[in-house]
Amino acid sequence: MKAAVVRAFGEPLVIEDRPDLEPGPGQVRIRVEASGLCHTDIHAAQGDWPVKPTPPFVPGHEGVGLVEKLGDGVTHLSVGQRVAVPWLGKACGRCEHCLSGWETLCEQQVNTGYGCDGGYAERMLAWADFAQPVPDGVSAVDAAPLTCAGVTTYKALKVAEVKPAQLVAVSGIGGLGHLAVQYAKIAGATVAAVDVTDEKLELAAELGADILIDARKDDVGAVLKQHGGAHAAIALAVDDAAFEAVNAGLRRGGKLVMVALPAHGTVRVPIFDTVLNGTSVIGSIVGTQQDLAEVFQLHAAGRTRVISETRPLTSVNECIAEVLRGEVRARIVLDLVVGR
Ligand code: NAD
Ligand code: ZN
Ligand code: ZN
Repeated sequence: MKAAVVRAFGEPLVIEDRPDLEPGPGQVRIRVEASGLCHTDIHAAQGDWPVKPTPPFVPGHEGVGLVEKLGDGVTHLSVGQRVAVPWLGKACGRCEHCLSGWETLCEQQVNTGYGCDGGYAERMLAWADFAQPVPDGVSAVDAAPLTCAGVTTYKALKVAEVKPAQLVAVSGIGGLGHLAVQYAKIAGATVAAVDVTDEKLELAAELGADILIDARKDDVGAVLKQHGGAHAAIALAVDDAAFEAVNAGLRRGGKLVMVALPAHGTVRVPIFDTVLNGTSVIGSIVGTQQDLAEVFQLHAAGRTRVISETRPLTSVNECIAEVLRGEVRARIVLDLVVGR
């Protein structure tokens, strides 16, 4: 089977032919149909973060496909069923976090495409308990971006406790941001979209954003304050300065939700303003299995639109370059069915 492999940080991925995989106990083998390209995969391939994966590895945590083989003990999935394999490849199921519905904070977790091989491949293994069934009527190409971009932004809005009539700033209208705008609208909020390209701002408007802020020329904080200040700002742009810009646009009691993970990212948070204005800074990491089930449910009900463009696996390096140049409309999905 073909797989795109990171052999060394910062080097182009290598397309390799690898032997077929055998699912271990509790695992399934999946014939991958579609695999989204999350900016996290680029951070992984570049070794951007303090905790690094170990090359060689196959990135990808938006893999969606059909179960092909069941490992010992797997009874709740069936061959031919469509499943999605998110970032949370596996968690312990026993710790305080797992038992309180916060398995995304489990210290024993294994991350797909980081701590084990991921979805940039024709076939992949997954732990059956964490492979999410995709409902009928949701295509593999749509399910892929929902598996990380969708669940992560859906969770970020939950963490921000967004309520109707509130103002939500979404900073960065990329793969994550184009879905964040939609979840904020579903929550009933007024949405201010912030980005640095005309195309991204036009897309945000098309998806329901009420206020458009061009961070190349507008003072983001000042524009948000003109609208009363944001109750929540969801920071999705891979740029430290973008976090500071939206933080400056919070209203009293507002919440900055940090989601993007720029390499060596640090943010200057003014202590005086934070204390006097009673604002909070919150980190938010992906979403739980239940969050992903809800994301799929909303999509199956026709309440969200996934904007994607499909490409062959062999073009993965050009795809990464396009994301880094900010040229992708929202999300690239590697199509593993074409060219098979
Ligand atoms: P992306 O490249 O698709 O989107 C980033 C967007 O930010 C682009 O639209 C870009 O034009 C915009 N941008 C760049 N500079 C900006 C600025 N100064 N102000 C406003 N917008 C600006 O990336 P993505 O796949 O959406 O991922 C975004 C980040 O989120 C990455 O760092 C990724 O690793 C991280 N991420 C975090 C989690 C989590 O659980 N916390 C999950 C998934 C992804
Ligand atoms: Zn991701
Ligand atoms: Zn745990």
